[in-house]
Amino acid sequence: MLTGPALARFRKNLLSWFAQFQRELPWRQTRHPYRIWLSEIMLQQTRVAAAIPYYERFLEKFPNVETLAAAPEAEVLRLWSGLGYYSRARNLQKAAKLIVAKHNGIFPSDPADALALPGIGAYTAAAILSIAYQKKHAVLDGNVARVIARLDAVRGDLRANGIWQTLQKSADHLLQERSPGDWNQAMMELGATLCTPRSPQCLLCPVAEFCEARKQGLADVIPEKRSKRGTIEITLASLVLVDPRGKTLLLAPPKSAKKSAAPDDVPTLVSRMWHFPTVSVQPGQAAAALTKFAQASLFGARKLQMELHPLKKVRHAVTYRSITILPFRLEMKELPKVSGAKAFPLVDLSSVAISNLTRKVARAALAPQ
Ligand code: SF4
Repeated sequence: MLTGPALARFRKNLLSWFAQFQRELPWRQTRHPYRIWLSEIMLQQTRVAAAIPYYERFLEKFPNVETLAAAPEAEVLRLWSGLGYYSRARNLQKAAKLIVAKHNGIFPSDPADALALPGIGAYTAAAILSIAYQKKHAVLDGNVARVIARLDAVRGDLRANGIWQTLQKSADHLLQERSPGDWNQAMMELGATLCTPRSPQCLLCPVAEFCEARKQGLADVIPEKRSKRGTIEITLASLVLVDPRGKTLLLAPPKSAKKSAAPDDVPTLVSRMWHFPTVSVQPGQAAAALTKFAQASLFGARKLQMELHPLKKVRHAVTYRSITILPFRLEMKELPKVSGAKAFPLVDLSSVAISNLTRKVARAALAPQ
């Protein structure tokens, strides 16, 4: 563990490098807690380049906590649409409502209050409080954990019990307490740009002289690969109804999530957003199962002769699920009236919150056959 002059030099090297080489990112122009919070939530599971346009659009529509808290959830989800992991957007809005009700519209600076908000875990709280309020909390996310594991040549699964806590202790020890916000961002930046998962650029690294993994020739080996949960294959069939005006029918978001849904639970797979009529099927039985489902849930007593046109299949992945969607197009003179369903123009579903899975199905239905 670095101490004394070595620790001081380590900190100085990293902060000077960060001051000179940090990327220009929209959330780095501000210390406003709302904006920092929004960026941290968007950046969970999402690449920086993908998050930037969403961040800018979101702030244009919801410039502060109050406007976010007061917005209809469907509008929040619509602006999040395409970013994935929609529970982030739902929790963001729930937290905004609590911040307005309990904290005068200002993101709390007390760690216990921050951690009590939906969607805020240890990492996110440390990041927001250090960057927005200069609180002395060291962040530990995947990037920082990798940097520290390499600096200290830590072997094994970094997320394993015990190892993560050790890494957190090292992160706390390294923290430069005079500027914790810059420090945390510098550590994350090093992990994101030089000390990357594959082929770390040690020759450019400002702290290479302190790195045990580099000394021992282990920079490419640490962190060791985690054992992955096995992938589950799921097949869905989706029905794209189209009327002569080019309108299609989407079903409303299911009201509440099941606590322990099956891996092929359709409401979960469409992220509880507007979606095409969809059913989980066995491969080879898609058309028959979809016809039965549509007859029962869309057309009721009205027996229809359905001519389903198969479209190009769509692939999608959600965590450990590998999903094949078999979309079918059905032309109709008139869309059925179904409670909770609405008609939208198939060519432009931008007015409604849909998941990436639904977007891919719409694309397949619009592609030339
Ligand atoms: Fe990462 Fe290489 Fe720097 Fe070590 S020397 S911290 S492995 S980039």
